[in-house]
This record gives sequence, structure tokens and C-alpha cells, in this order.
Amino acid sequence: MKKFLAVLVVVLSVSQAFAAGDELFQTALLQSLMQGEYDGVITVKELKSYGDTGIGTFQGVNGELVMSGGKVYQALWDGSVKIASDDETVPFANVTFFDADIKKEGVTAENFGALTDIMTSIIREHGRNQFYMAKVSGLMPHILVRSELKQNEPYKPLNDALKTDQREFEYKDIRGTIVALYCPNYMRGLNSAGWHLHFVSEDGTKGGHVLGVSTKDCLLEMDSISEFVMIVPNRKTFNDKDLSVNMQKEIQQVEGN
Ligand SMILES: [Zn+2]
Repeated sequence: MKKFLAVLVVVLSVSQAFAAGDELFQTALLQSLMQGEYDGVITVKELKSYGDTGIGTFQGVNGELVMSGGKVYQALWDGSVKIASDDETVPFANVTFFDADIKKEGVTAENFGALTDIMTSIIREHGRNQFYMAKVSGLMPHILVRSELKQNEPYKPLNDALKTDQREFEYKDIRGTIVALYCPNYMRGLNSAGWHLHFVSEDGTKGGHVLGVSTKDCLLEMDSISEFVMIVPNRKTFNDKDLSVNMQKEIQQVEGN
């Protein structure tokens, strides 16, 4: 009993404020999605109970998911964006209830690498082994986004599907919000390490997975997250997949930046 109390005191003395809603929620693995696990795991309505901000995709990879301010945008293959219906399902996503722990104004970046360098330099100060959700909002002088055609069964691996079914869209001087997820290096087996960016325009009509971008005087907000919650589907297609294989190369190809 004495031993137990001693341990308890140590734990309390280093405790941080963990609170409900402060976690990063993940549906399945990027690696299962990459291997063609495209059927939804939870509904959009359920996803909203885990966060108000995040990124992901839909049943059959039917567009890129961008969640911002509690709204779930579906950026479709033809470049259009609609509000996803609550009963649409999601095979892969990361969401959180967004708190702007860190704010930086006047963020101007010439390209994707420059923007993520700015965000990564902030992470180095605040702890590189935490999770981060970021929002970059304002004017994008240039942005290149992609989406993809909805896939039908039998599902091909994502790399193969994107070879023929990826569509790219380029915009100039467009206002909007980038929602970006940062996973630390130790997440390599479950997701992609580093940054993953999705975009939705201010008027909610354009968006997708960000392949290239420049920003001018944008507002950067970052949420530092110390808890991680993941759900996986319990079904044969998922359980039959070998999720121990290293997919770094394929993931880099799919991320495309
Ligand atoms: Zn994406």
C-alpha cells in the first residue's frame, strides 16, 4: 500500500491537464487505407462527436475530408466541395476539438516546404513528440490541390487508384483555410510522420489534399495534443491485411509533396 501511494504521488507531481476532448482521434490506419480498406468505419455524425477539426477521406475514397469549425467538407474528384451528409461513412480520418494553443500572425511562405518549415520550427520549441493540429487561414496566392474519383470494389491499393483517378486543381489568390495534421516520427506504422495538409476555400466551394501552396500574411493557429485515441474496424477485410509491412515509399508517393 505504501509503495502504491509513493507511485501515486510521483504521478501527480508530473501530471498535466488531460481533459476530455483534448485528444487526437484516429479512424483506422493510413496503412490500411493505402492497402485498399476503403469501406467506412464510422459515420460523419459519429466523427463529429470526436472533434470539430481534422482531415480524412470518405467511403470508397470519394473525395478528401476537411473538417473545420465543426463542418465536414467533402472535396470531390471534379474540384467541387459539398457539406458531407451525417450518414456518409469514413474509412480513415484524424480529428480533434481544436484549441488554438499557439498563434502566429503574418505567416508568409513561398511554397509548401517553407510553410511546413515554419510550423515545424514552432513544434521544435513546443515539443516534437506531441501531436499537432494546425489551421492556416487567409490568402493563398497559389494552391495546388487534388482529389480522386470514387473507387468501386474490388478496391485497388491507393497508389494504383491515384495513378489513373487523381485529379488536380490549381487556384490563384484564393482565400481559405488549410487544416494540417502533424504526427511525430513514432507514428510511422499507423499514419504518416510529419505534415499532412487539406484545404477548403473561404466560400466552401473548392478544396482538396494540398500538393503545393504559398501563403500571404496568413494566421497560423496550432493545437498541441498529448492524447491519442484510435478505433479499427473488426471485419475480415481489415483483419486479413498485413499491417506490419513498411509502406514509407508508397505513403510518400500518395502524399505527393
Ligand atoms: Zn490527404
